[in-house]
This record gives sequence, structure tokens and C-alpha cells, in this order.
Amino acid sequence: MKVIKEISNSSEVIASQLLARDNFLLFGHIIPDGDCIGSIAALQLGLEARGKKVEVILQDPVPDIYKFLPVTARFRHEWSSDINAQNIIFLDCSDINRIGEQVSANLNSSVTTFNIDHHATNDYFADYNWVEPGAAATAELVFALLNALQVKINPEMATALFSGLVMDTGKFMYSSTTDKTMTTAAHLLQAGVDINQVRINLFETKTREEILLLRLALNNISISDDGRIAWISLPYKEVKAIGALDVHPESIINYTREIKGVEVGMLFREINPGQIKVGFRAKGAVDVAQIAGKIGGGGHRQAAGATYEGTLAQAKDIVTKLVKDVIN
Ligand code: 5GP
Ligand code: MN
Repeated sequence: MKVIKEISNSSEVIASQLLARDNFLLFGHIIPDGDCIGSIAALQLGLEARGKKVEVILQDPVPDIYKFLPVTARFRHEWSSDINAQNIIFLDCSDINRIGEQVSANLNSSVTTFNIDHHATNDYFADYNWVEPGAAATAELVFALLNALQVKINPEMATALFSGLVMDTGKFMYSSTTDKTMTTAAHLLQAGVDINQVRINLFETKTREEILLLRLALNNISISDDGRIAWISLPYKEVKAIGALDVHPESIINYTREIKGVEVGMLFREINPGQIKVGFRAKGAVDVAQIAGKIGGGGHRQAAGATYEGTLAQAKDIVTKLVKDVIN
């Protein structure tokens, strides 16, 4: 793969390349979120509307709340020998490792790769890179791409992209939300988003296990003496005991940031014994993507993450020190 560092292509360049090609494989990141899934679903439908052959691989399963989105039932979750795509599109992935080790092991270097993303920490790993850190969601970019591809956006595509916007912007409330985000949302509503279906599926279908996980999380919340840092820990054994190992709600971490005076909130979730998924949220000026980067992760200024190999106690000790160094 040739690496053209930090030169972002435009939607027009990407669109003309996609129109000239066929046989696409779309990839999203591990523990896929609404933006990742919505962006992939809409782009698959858009490329298929232009007569292209498209496959999708997501290493991890689609969380239940996103199963109402179109084409998600057709997504594959492992590599298969019948996949012979010549073109790979990575969506919402800041680096190539985000797609997961099981599927990345099968990547063939002779294919042409496209990287469409909005993470400032993106490392421009593909042949064609379209990276807009100013975009609130990858879905915002896919909306522009579908227009450049001259695809008529149908209600299914609109619902997928709108869901991506809603989830990545905290219901249009994060500072990443711009007038362009709102204009995109307005166009999507015009194109036929089913807003009741979006709200019910995304926010009003919590399972019993999810509520038990929330109870555990609120029980396990800690606040620093100065009140500027808060964190939740979810030990593997305790999550297992309530049957919530597979539950990955995107909202639990937000309770840390909602506390008055807290500037950085964190979630330490032991996803396997000795493997800790660390989530970060910032409320003020602190750039948590930089802090996450110090332990091999990344993300956005106000929402970032990383995976830490070690015990829960080690992760909490090291990461809270890193945060204290930055805010003091
Ligand atoms: P979340 O806490 O919702 O899982 O993630 C917040 C943001 O951080 C997302 O934009 C996501 O892309 C990024 N992020 C989460 N985990 C990781 C990680 O392990 N590595 C990198 N590079 N980014 C991550
Ligand atoms: Mn995103």
C-alpha cells in the first residue's frame, strides 16, 4: 500500500474513483457504533444503487439496537475464501488496526484501499484518504459522497445516516455539531427518516442486562478529591455475574462527565481478564484523544478510547495519573 501522508482527497475524487471501479469490500471498526454501522449501511445501498457489487465485513456483531438499520443482516463477521474484492473502503477507522486482527490478517496488498473518516488522529493509511476532522460523523461524509455519486437518497439510507449523526453527536449536542451537521440532518429528514423508529430503537429498547450494567456502573463510580475527574470501573467478574458481557452501551460513560465540576470522565471496562477497554470523555478544554494516544489509542478531543493490557487496578492507576498530569 502506498502511503500519501496527510493529503486528504475530496468527495469528488473519491466518487469518481468509486464509479470507475467495481467489487467493493466495506470495513468498519471493532465494537462498531452507530456512526460506523449507519455509514456502512448507507454506502452499501448507495453503491448497489449504482450497480456495484458490495460486501461488508465487521469483525464484531451488530449490537441489537442497530439491527433495525438496512442491510445489517447481510453484514459478514469473518473472512471467507469467496471474497475477492478489488477495492476496500474503510469507514470510521482512524487506523488500519481498528478493523480487528482476525480480518486484517487476510488483507491482500494488491487491492486498492479507501479511507473515509473524521478522526483527527487518522494516520492516512490507505491509497485514497478522505479525512475531515471537522465533520461530526462519518455519516456526514457519506451523505456528501452519495450526492457526489448522484445516488438518490432513499428513506432507508437516510435513516441509517441520521442514526449515525445522532449517535456520534450526542443527539446533536456535542461541540462537533456544526451548521453543516444540522443541514445534513435536515436533508436526511426530507429524504424520509423514520424518526420514531430511530428514537425507539436507539433509546427505548434497553434490555434488563443493560439496566443491571448501569446499576453496577453507578455503584462503581469514583470521583477524584478535587472533583475534576470521575471514573467507572466494570470488572469482568462482576459484569459476567449479571450476564452483561455482551452488552456495550455507548451511554454509560457519559454519567462520569455529567457530574458538576468533572472535566474528564472515564470508563474502565475489563472486556477480558487482563484486557481493559478505556473510554474517555472531556467536558472542557482537555484533549482526551492525546491522553488516549499515550496508551496506544485515539479518537476525538472530547471522546476517545484505548485498550490497555494489564489489570484493572494498573489501568486505573496509570490512566488517572496521565489525566491528572494534563489537567494540573
Ligand atoms: P467510545 O468511548 O465511544 O468507545 O469511543 C469514543 C471515540 O474514541 C470513538 O470516536 C472511537 O473511534 C475512539 N476510540 C475508542 N476506542 C479506541 C481505540 O482503542 N483506539 C482508537 N484509535 N480509537 C478509539
Ligand atoms: Mn464516527
